[in-house]
Amino acid sequence: MDSIESFKNQAGELDRIDTLSAFRYHFAPQDEQIIYLDGNSLGKLPIRTNALLHKVVTEQWGQRMIRSWNENWMGLSQHLSSKIARIIGAEPDEVFVGDNTSVNFYKLAFAALKFQKERNKIVTDNLNFPSDLYLLQGLVSHHFADHSINMMLSDDGISLNTKKIEEILDHKTALLTLSHVVFKSAFMYDMGIVNELAHKYNTLVLWDLSHSGGSVPVRLNETNADMAVGCTYKYLNGGPGAPAYLYVRKDLQEKLFNPIQGWFGHNEPFAFNLDYKARRSIERFAVGTPGILSMAAMEPGLDLILEAGIENLRLKSMAQSTFMQQMIYSHLIPLGFSFASPEDSQHRGSHLSLQHSEGYRISKAMISPKVGSPIIIPDFRPPNNIRLGIAPLYNTFTELFETVIRMRTIVVEEQYKLYNETVEEVT
Ligand SMILES: *Cc1c(COP(=O)(O)O)cnc(C)c1O
Repeated sequence: MDSIESFKNQAGELDRIDTLSAFRYHFAPQDEQIIYLDGNSLGKLPIRTNALLHKVVTEQWGQRMIRSWNENWMGLSQHLSSKIARIIGAEPDEVFVGDNTSVNFYKLAFAALKFQKERNKIVTDNLNFPSDLYLLQGLVSHHFADHSINMMLSDDGISLNTKKIEEILDHKTALLTLSHVVFKSAFMYDMGIVNELAHKYNTLVLWDLSHSGGSVPVRLNETNADMAVGCTYKYLNGGPGAPAYLYVRKDLQEKLFNPIQGWFGHNEPFAFNLDYKARRSIERFAVGTPGILSMAAMEPGLDLILEAGIENLRLKSMAQSTFMQQMIYSHLIPLGFSFASPEDSQHRGSHLSLQHSEGYRISKAMISPKVGSPIIIPDFRPPNNIRLGIAPLYNTFTELFETVIRMRTIVVEEQYKLYNETVEEVT
């Protein structure tokens, strides 16, 4: 068993040789007392966003008023799409930015089921994000009554063997939809293999990239992906409720129609024709006026990811999660924690999931320490998962070291007993 001292030295050394270490100073707050391990739920504020938003509000809205639509705002969605496209391995004209992930998911799932109307099978898994499952259930109950949702079940609650996908797909399968990196365990599917399996049956695949965009290299074009959606307020640091994105491969765009036919998806929105005519471009998936303030706030986060380079971020993230995993094995597993993420960093995204029967109270003790200890912010997912989100743009190895030590102390000294079990609304 490695000693605490040797892990500490290792963390210090890894921080010293980290070529991305300066990026953390681009984020608020600069308060070293807080260790933030929740970038997988709400990314930190890039400091540049303050000045940018101030400018958009005071100059563009305040001074230029409606003239700003032509001067700055009409092209904003496409401008940001081209940056997101670089992060997820797509072409700029294959990505639309706007609405939220759930709405984008609805639009694309609906469009795919319409396009594949002679097929009635939908396939997903029980590791998927509940919102996606609710949306599928709604589609079936309101529009596609003949369809069935076939849920593949994970054996261990952590991962799903692609053999199960192979077994369940057939010529009746219209749509396969999965989270690329799953929200609880961080298990990551091999996108290339899954796309290939599905395409044997001409099944369309809709990927949810919310936990992978900005945390792992996504290769939509290279793997011949059909459709994807994702959010920008996690690893992309776009701000609370920042607009989401969607992707549709170029050759599929004219075959898929937006079920929410608003004027921003119209071929000529400002001609005010009385009949709808869908745009030919990816912008056909737009609905109405975009939220300019929250859209503008996204850009500094995207720029920081592009400046650091997604491949570099992935290397650091794998080194960090592996370092933390080793410490967890020697210092937390003996205390009743279990490791609830894939063992191999190649097969997981950028967070680690730990289970403990006192998981909720332990997470409370981390967030609201009584005296002297650092504030550490992870998140909690029922029934007993503590998620430790590692954002290589701003987390250090030393922070990960301190987190494990703190969790150890909370359990060894039974500090969690000082907290009640009342569950907050947002955990
Ligand atoms: C966070 C997340 C979402 C968020 O959906 P919203 O509509 O933006 O609230 C969707 N899917 C997955 C997999 C997520 O992790």
